[in-house]
Parts: sequence; structure tokens; C-alpha cells
Amino acid sequence: MTHQEPEVGAATGALAAVPAAGNRRSLPMPAHLRFYLGPMDCGKSTLALQIDHNHARQGRCGLVLTQGDRSANPRITTRVGMSRAAVELDSSTDLRELVRRQWAAGQRVDYLIVDEAQFLSPEQVEQLVDLVDDSHVDVYAFGLATDFRSRLFPGSQRLFELADTVVALQVEVLCWCGRPGGFNGRVVGGALVREGEQVVIADTATSAETRYQVLCRRHYRGGELGPSRPEEPQLPLS
Ligand SMILES: [Zn+2]
Repeated sequence: MTHQEPEVGAATGALAAVPAAGNRRSLPMPAHLRFYLGPMDCGKSTLALQIDHNHARQGRCGLVLTQGDRSANPRITTRVGMSRAAVELDSSTDLRELVRRQWAAGQRVDYLIVDEAQFLSPEQVEQLVDLVDDSHVDVYAFGLATDFRSRLFPGSQRLFELADTVVALQVEVLCWCGRPGGFNGRVVGGALVREGEQVVIADTATSAETRYQVLCRRHYRGGELGPSRPEEPQLPLS
């Protein structure tokens, strides 16, 4: 954003960078990019589908995008039982092209809901910003901030840098000790690991070898997984 000092003695009308009130009213409402973040199981997908529902009820048209579903009919499925058809992305998807194709087919796209947004590439986050700023598409992105090494995902980092609003979700996921858990621990063979590939696509509910467990910082750093291993992911919205 540029900021120009008004010249001394210049007429106020000469400050062309600032639109006059009448002009500003004719501009469409600016769209926005919101990044909602939280650890695993904190209800991100549930909120994503709730926001989609609220907008659709007002007659707005949106697309719901996800990554890592890999089924023939990709969906966002939440742990509290909600589900909705979604468009599957991969790292080669150009999000501007995706939206333009919808428009070319006569489909309105007023907003995008992006689940698993931590898997976006930095370039894809910039494509989202193009859609917000140039095409007035609202974007609601939901994702993890950090990976199992406690490092930012590249896509999440770019979202932090570019989003209009960053919202830390308030549904707390608790560590086994009862403290708020903010760390997504990767557990392999019963032990916490902090090295390895950033993304392992696996069904965490059925994979015996690799699973994820939310921990507080103290127990993440100590690698202490608690007295008993939970059989099921926690249900924070019960
Ligand atoms: Zn703890």
C-alpha cells in the first residue's frame, strides 16, 4: 500500500489516490481471505461446512475444495458426521483456472471454502489472493498451522503472510494431561517422531504404523504420549 503525504497547499481534490466518497460507494464490497487455523480435531471441517451452509442459505454460490481425499467422489467429512461433496485439488491445480472454468460453464462462484489448506502451495495461496482482489471471490481457508515437526506448512506460512484475517479456532483440543494441545505429534510404532516427510497421506483412523496425537508443548517436547493411548480421535464438539 502506498501512502502519499499531501503536498502543502495542494487542493484536497488533487489527492487522486484516495477515491472521493461518491466513487467509493460505487465500488463492490471488497472480498476477503480468512485463514482459520487450529490443531487436528479442533472442528475445522465442521466450521467449514457450517460457513458454506450459511452462505448458501443466503443465495450465494460457492465451491468447496479439499486435498488428500483421493476417493472417486471427494468429500469433506467431519468427525461430527457432516459431509459434503468437494472438489479435489492437487499441487498442480491452478485455482484461478478452476474458478474460471466454473464461470465459463455459467456457474456463479461467490466464495471458496478450502479445507486442508495447509497442503496448498505458496503459489496456490497467491492464486487465492488474485481471486479475492481481482475477482471479488471470498475465500475461507481452514488448516493446520504447523506440521509434526512444529514447523509451519509452506501454504500456512503464505496464508499467515497474505490473509486479511487469521482466526485461531477457539475449540480447544486437550492433551492427555488436560492442557490445551497445539502440537500435532506424529507417532510411529508408539514413539513420537520429529523427523521425516512433511506429508504422509494415510488414514489416521486405520493406520497402525503412523498416527497423529495432539499434545501440549511440554509433552510434545518431552515425547510423552500419556498413560493410555486413545482408541478414537477426540470429539471436541460432543
Ligand atoms: Zn500435555
